[in-house]
Order: sequence, then C-alpha cells, then structure tokens
Amino acid sequence: MFIAVDLHAHSMFAGGAGGISSSPEKLEQSYRRAHKRFREANITSWKKGIQVMGSGDIQFKPWLNFFEKYLVEEKEGLYSYHDSEEARVEEAVHYILQTEIIVTTRYKQWRKASHVVVLFPDYDSVRMFQSMLEKLGSKTERMARPFVTLATPNEVSDFFYGLVDSEPRIEVIPAHILTPEGVYGGNNGVNMLEDFFGLFHERIRVVETGLSADPEVLGLIPELDNKVLLSNSDAHSSALNRLAREFTVLEVREITYDGVIDALRERRIDYTLEFPPTEGRFFFTGHRAGRKKPRPHGKNEYCYFSPDTLPEGNICPICGGELTKGVLHRAFEIGEAQGNKRFLKEAKISQRYIHGVPLIEAVALGLGLKSISSKKVRLVYDRIVGFFGNEVSLWKEDPEKTEEFLSELSIPENVKHVIYEIKRDNFTFEPPGFDGQYGRLVVGRKTPYLGLREIKR
Ligand SMILES: [Zn+2]
Ligand SMILES: [Zn+2]
Repeated sequence: MFIAVDLHAHSMFAGGAGGISSSPEKLEQSYRRAHKRFREANITSWKKGIQVMGSGDIQFKPWLNFFEKYLVEEKEGLYSYHDSEEARVEEAVHYILQTEIIVTTRYKQWRKASHVVVLFPDYDSVRMFQSMLEKLGSKTERMARPFVTLATPNEVSDFFYGLVDSEPRIEVIPAHILTPEGVYGGNNGVNMLEDFFGLFHERIRVVETGLSADPEVLGLIPELDNKVLLSNSDAHSSALNRLAREFTVLEVREITYDGVIDALRERRIDYTLEFPPTEGRFFFTGHRAGRKKPRPHGKNEYCYFSPDTLPEGNICPICGGELTKGVLHRAFEIGEAQGNKRFLKEAKISQRYIHGVPLIEAVALGLGLKSISSKKVRLVYDRIVGFFGNEVSLWKEDPEKTEEFLSELSIPENVKHVIYEIKRDNFTFEPPGFDGQYGRLVVGRKTPYLGLREIKR
C-alpha cells in the first residue's frame, strides 16, 4: 500500500527548535500552548493526507513527556493522538519518533555544522539517545534541537555507529543536505559525506532533499547515485503552507515503524513532492536586500547569480563581501570535487518526483490575495480539499483528470487555472530564492537554471 509520509518536523514548543524557560509557570504555559498547536497540527496533517508524520524533537524532555501522556501506540512504533471519541483509528495520523540535532565538527581548517534527522523505533531507544547526548554535555531538558560537538569526523562516525549498533532500526538521515546548515552546504570544504561523517558515511542510506533541491539537482552529485532521497517539510508550525509542504510517498507492507523503515531502506519510493528548487531560500548564489553582514546592503540592494554567471572570486559587486553560495552552485562544485562534473542534462535522476506547492498558496495566488490566512482563501481551500479528500490526493491525480474534477467544482476560475498550471509543472519562483530569501510563486512559465543574474543597487 502507498502512504504519504513527512518524517521531519519540529515540536510545537517555542517555535520548535529553541530552548524553553526553566521557570515552572512559564513551562506550564508553553506546555499548554504546545498542546493547542499540536492539536491544530494533527488536523492539518490529516487534511493534507499525511499518514505518518515526524514527532519532532522527541529527545526533548517536555515533548517526550507529552507524547507518553497523550499519544497511544496504535501501530507498532507509531503513535496517534485522538481528540475525540469519533475519530476512527484508520483515519488517524501516525507519529514516528523523530528528532533533529546539530552536529559540529572540524574538517581541515573548517568548523562545520550539519543538521541530522534521527528516527527511533521506541521510547527506550529515545532514552538511550538522551543519555548519549547528556554525556556529551547536551541539554535535553532545555533544547528542542540539541547541539552535539565532536572533535573530528572520526568521532562523528563513532557517535553514530554507537547509536545504530545499539539499536539497528534507528535511521540516521543527513538533513536538507545542500542548504548552508546541511552537510554539503555553505562556504566550506566538505565535498563528500565522508569528510563530515567519517566511515559512518557507508551506513547512510537516506538523505533529505531540502526545499532548495530536488532529485534533478541532487543528481549532479555522484556519491548520491545510490542513496535514497527523502523529502520532508521540516515544519516549525502547524500552518497549511508549512506542514507537509514537501512529502514522500512510500510503498509499505504495513503501517508500522518497521514498515516505514524497510520501505526507505529498500527504496520503495513511489514519488516525492518537491518545491521547484527555485523556491528554496538558497537556490542561487547572492546577497539579499537589507543585509547587515559582512557589509551592509540597502533596503533595495540585492544580487543573485546562476552558476554560470558568478562574479570573480564569488565577491558581491555591491558590498564586496563573499556571496552566500546557492544550492545549484554547490551541487556543481561538489560534482567536480568528486571527479565527475555533470551538466544539468546529465544529472542522474534516480527517483520519481512531482513539483508542487502548498495548495493554500496556489489558492491565495489564484484569488490575488497575499495572506493565506484570509477567510476567503481558507473557504476555497476547504472546498477543494473536501472534494478530493485531502491535498495529497489532488497532487497525485494526473493533470487531465484534475481538470475534469475541478471543472465540477464551483470555485473561481483563476484558482483552477493556477492549479492546472502547477499540475503541468508550468510554474516557477521569480525572483528565485537566494541568500535566505524565499522565491515568489509565478505560474505560466519556468525559470532557466542558467544564464540568469540580477544586480540591484
Ligand atoms: Zn534543520
Ligand atoms: Zn553583498
């Protein structure tokens, strides 16, 4: 059977990743807020059509307590939350125990941090992980997304091997690998998984694409040819344009923890839903407007470059500082460093994927409204989702069928038009994302990946 999964999210504490107060009153307050947000997130996941969702931050003690108190293990290794009696088990969203940590090590002269997602089969393995973190001085009481500092890639390898040797069903997944916080990202010299993970790189089976990359962009990197590509939302809120904004459809034998992990390890991926990479906050190399460091940019001063139009020495023509390397630029660089520079048409695309965007954003664009929380946008959204059952069903339907179905719905024609164009993959983000700024959704055309540059001052 096919199920849609989103295996990387954050808890509903303090925006997800930050620390929380230690005062009992404040803690109680944020606990209540987290509970409320989690209920909303649970409904959002259900509307989206996600069957297995990442718990987020599960080693974080307040969140682990919340899970143990309010969720029920309905399928082996997967947990559900029931708001009311009538919600049926088959319809429930199942949560997988999941966290993200920030690992820092040194490679050559660089200090490099990388985000890493970890999946756990049960609470015992989460507790074991907690004690590993505590031994390293990491604060599981206070930090939802803990820091782990290890002196060398060898130590990184020992740490992760220590983890999976004690519980082989644990999966370790490098997160959003091409963004500056991912293993390959940013302005540093890590060009191979081994440079960061040491020998453990052999045990990495799955990597996360992140919002700025899709299987085509990752297909420029030779050492990923045999890795499984997983797409997740990395959502920090329950909003309809965040949760499950990217997801993966797996073919599983059963809806259990092992069912999900086996499908991943055996590459039973039906498809991933990906933002066009031009949307991601780091697609092109550049400097955004209003930048403060290394040298300031004015309110309207920005520049971006596709990999074939880069300025000499990667230096910003506006401020003279080093530009933030974009994902596409990095992918070419890494391919070259791995001794196999590929052109875009040579990218090895090993998995099926669909380009999409959160339906709520498509609806807002179709209505010409900026805010996705406007009542009108929500109304049209609910009507479409009510008709298709959930958002995943809409994305997986083939374009002609979608047109047929939508023609029966009484919603504004322009919303239908935007959805058709997205389903035909005739849409893009302009200006594209660069230097931490999201791209802006436009339908009816595609942005070329090469030959683009803009300098505004
Ligand atoms: Zn992350
Ligand atoms: Zn600059």
